[in-house]
Amino acid sequence: MPAEYNHHLRGHICLVTGSSRGIGAQIARTVAVAGARTVINYHSSQQQAMQLVEELTEQGCQVMAVQADISQGREVEAMFARIEDKWGSVDLLVNNAGISLKRLFTETSEEEWHQVMDINLKGAFLCCRSALPAMIRTRFGRIVNIASIWGLRGASCETVYAASKGGLIALSRSLAMEMGPSGITVNVIAPGPVETDMLLQELDNDERAMLSVEIPLGRLASPDDVASACLFLLSPAASYINGQVLGIDGGWKV
Ligand code: NAP
Repeated sequence: MPAEYNHHLRGHICLVTGSSRGIGAQIARTVAVAGARTVINYHSSQQQAMQLVEELTEQGCQVMAVQADISQGREVEAMFARIEDKWGSVDLLVNNAGISLKRLFTETSEEEWHQVMDINLKGAFLCCRSALPAMIRTRFGRIVNIASIWGLRGASCETVYAASKGGLIALSRSLAMEMGPSGITVNVIAPGPVETDMLLQELDNDERAMLSVEIPLGRLASPDDVASACLFLLSPAASYINGQVLGIDGGWKV
């Protein structure tokens, strides 16, 4: 990271949902090192969240971990109340938590539909709804929603996941229009395949190698590729960027 970017998020409070592992953990590292007081939200991976808190605290970052299932309204409200009590209002929000579902469409159950939609789409709605009143009051806020390239192009056998991410893109674009007059930007990152647990669950080594060949840059994304784009969208350098969908896909276009 260029020296001039060090600590350029000082004074901000950033919540990264689903940041115990994978892309979210790397985003939390990046914004914490950039100086934001950073909330690491986790659902079940408490040990990994605590390890990340320890790692970043040792580096002199200000971080806290909060357990909450972001698909549950009451848990989201309780998480925001805890952050408010400790530090104040969240002004940088990254809706990253998500789950995938690889299933033939005809074999997808109603429960699976609800689970994917509740975490990937309703979770972002709930967190935005909790964060926005303070952002509107202070006339400043940055929201970055982590969707997926599948939300733009669709994906066979991942219809419900793709629909949740397409919904997240529509939510973000609409919110960007509604909140722009209040000084709040809302943008989307749409990654292609990223090397995390989520991808390892879905694709074996051969499938990942075949996919890399299709991508013009010849490799899958790392969590850091997504985190640096997110840092940019949260930073003062991106203050006139609103309602955009930034593909982080190595040129593997829709
Ligand atoms: P991952 O490695 O599976 O990590 C998922 C994270 O989400 C974990 O920290 C998990 O927390 C959290 N989470 C899941 N359900 C939650 C809930 N109900 N409440 C709170 N947190 C919850 O996934 P990833 O690959 O880093 O993906 C992160 C985001 O990027 C997701 O939105 C995903 O759809 C998107 N994405 C990923 C890829 C990819 O190829 N990996 C591509 C495009 C988009 P716990 O472990 O604590 O439960």
